[in-house]
Amino acid sequence: MTRAGSACPLDCPDACSLEVQVENGIAIAVGGTRVNPLTAGYICAKVRRFPEHVHGPARVRDPGIRVGTKGEGRFRTASWEEALDLIASKMAALSASGQGEAILPVSYGGSNGYLSQDTTDARLFSRLGASRFARTVCSAPSSRAAVGLYGKMAGIALDDYAHAKLAVVWGANPHASGIHLLPHLQAARRAGGRLVVLDPRQTRLAAEADLHLPLRPGTDLPVALAVHRWLFANGAADIAFLEKHATGWEELRRRAERWTIARAAAVAGVLEEDLERFARWYAESAPAAIRCGWGLERNRNGGSATAAILALPAVAGKFGVRGGGYTLSNSAVWELDSLRSARTEPSPAREINMNRTGEALLDRDRPVRVLFVYNCNPLMTLPEQEKVRKGLEREDLFTVVFDPVMTDTALYADVVLPATTFLERTEVSRGYGAYVLQEAEAVIPPVGQSRPNHDVFAELCRRAGVERPGDASTGAELTREILAGNPSGPSWRASFDRQSPGAPPFGRNPIQFVDVFPRTADRRAHLCPPELDAEAAPSGLYGYREDPATAAHPLALVSPATDQTISTTLGELRREIAIMEMHPADALARGISSGDRVSASNASGQVSCIVRVAPTLRPGVVSVPKGLWSHNTFGGSTANAVVPDTLADLGGGACFNDARVEVERLPAG
Ligand code: SF4
Repeated sequence: MTRAGSACPLDCPDACSLEVQVENGIAIAVGGTRVNPLTAGYICAKVRRFPEHVHGPARVRDPGIRVGTKGEGRFRTASWEEALDLIASKMAALSASGQGEAILPVSYGGSNGYLSQDTTDARLFSRLGASRFARTVCSAPSSRAAVGLYGKMAGIALDDYAHAKLAVVWGANPHASGIHLLPHLQAARRAGGRLVVLDPRQTRLAAEADLHLPLRPGTDLPVALAVHRWLFANGAADIAFLEKHATGWEELRRRAERWTIARAAAVAGVLEEDLERFARWYAESAPAAIRCGWGLERNRNGGSATAAILALPAVAGKFGVRGGGYTLSNSAVWELDSLRSARTEPSPAREINMNRTGEALLDRDRPVRVLFVYNCNPLMTLPEQEKVRKGLEREDLFTVVFDPVMTDTALYADVVLPATTFLERTEVSRGYGAYVLQEAEAVIPPVGQSRPNHDVFAELCRRAGVERPGDASTGAELTREILAGNPSGPSWRASFDRQSPGAPPFGRNPIQFVDVFPRTADRRAHLCPPELDAEAAPSGLYGYREDPATAAHPLALVSPATDQTISTTLGELRREIAIMEMHPADALARGISSGDRVSASNASGQVSCIVRVAPTLRPGVVSVPKGLWSHNTFGGSTANAVVPDTLADLGGGACFNDARVEVERLPAG
């Protein structure tokens, strides 16, 4: 048995450094190391099961060509030659006849590795003139807000939460995602700090908090604006800081004016005194840290809500001390993500918003002819699931799925291609919570005939006739090209801070407005940027959009992350029927008891599973886990079957938490 170092590139803020135990070319166990100091030698339960994902029965080991009907998942084994020639010839023919945009590449964060996305794949699709795919399903609204207000300034390092006298965890559940924040929250509380959690559900963290505000989904915006109003009205706004370091704060103040504590509490369904207590604690505490998560962006008000939350430390004067300020995503500090988009050559092709993939697949006027899916399981992850399914069923659609495992989407493929996992390839990845950039070599040989993404897309470039001399194509060439953009160069770990290149790795966590400043042109915070205001039309930035509930569909359905999957990654290992949670009052009104089979439905579709009646959920809200596969429900549809493809106010983001449903008990099966 040997032990080899690796790094987790999955869609999680923490970017654990790993040790993999290998026996005869098989990964038998995965654990943590201390190479990444934040993750400190331990990892989540999800990735501990990664060997089952790598070597399990769902693994795609060979290229396959469909022999059954779509959805059946029957394939004959093919050679790479045959599969790639088939795919390349179809795409090249469309491109040559001026129909490049009939090719739709669909990918997301199945791996956040720099080699596995936006390298040779971006080159292939942009040169073919394929439709451009806007990856908006997560973090699009919050990213727009973070760019608009602060130019994506580096946030509080997660270990610096230990210094906070008030830690606010807003729309995040670190017991499920980003677990390495927890010990630092606990340390802060041991040192006398308070914890406030804002979440519609009473999560484990919320149950332990000094104050839990169980907001109605989609009401984070009025709550944040009410805190702003309270700060200004009670002399707790730091006017000196705002005058020196911010613009737009007077307009923010004006827009917050209508949101009294009483009004916001009524809209959000929380106690007025609790909301006022939160505002007072925030004003009084220093350092005060806000961990802004992604749960609050997944609705019609998501961009404005994130902006209002990120503006709080500026208005309250919370920057300038260790443990004071905010954290959202720290991905931008590497300045490598911009290189990703640089590889996508300018193209006049149409852009398709990821949240409307179903609609695009059903569009008969500008039809998609070739769908190429990688790093993604769109049938299970996208809104309007039934539209996506109908699109995948189209006999005239040629679908390629390139994935390590046979996902629900892959069952509809015409060609499946076996992809390596990160244990079987070189990968470069960064944390978007942890300040760490890691390069890891393969620790086991590729399983079956699987190949790395960058290698297969380079080969497709060749076969489709779009390769050019000098293209970086191998893992080593691409790694060199990627790391050339980082001031610290290629290294296992690198300094995060562009302002002090050459500083030892993790030499100093940044203090906002001391070590790092807004990356806006004037290095000031823009608290009401005109470009966001225009984008959020017609309600404008900080304009509240009402709840979409109707009498027929009164319940808000939320689909939070769990400690079992990362989006749908590893979902093949979770075999049980999912549990829907429901408040006792809602259950009583519908004659529903724990253990019943239930269905949540609306005009878009339905999801059926088993119910647990639980006071941990606020009345009017039901919860079905994120990341389910078809085998986790009765009937094969998941929460996304009832999620609309409406868009958030900023970034064209998804509105998962705007699903409104009615729930009924099903006959015992
Ligand atoms: S998913 Fe997150 S917590 Fe789990 S191993 Fe990867 S980086 Fe660590």
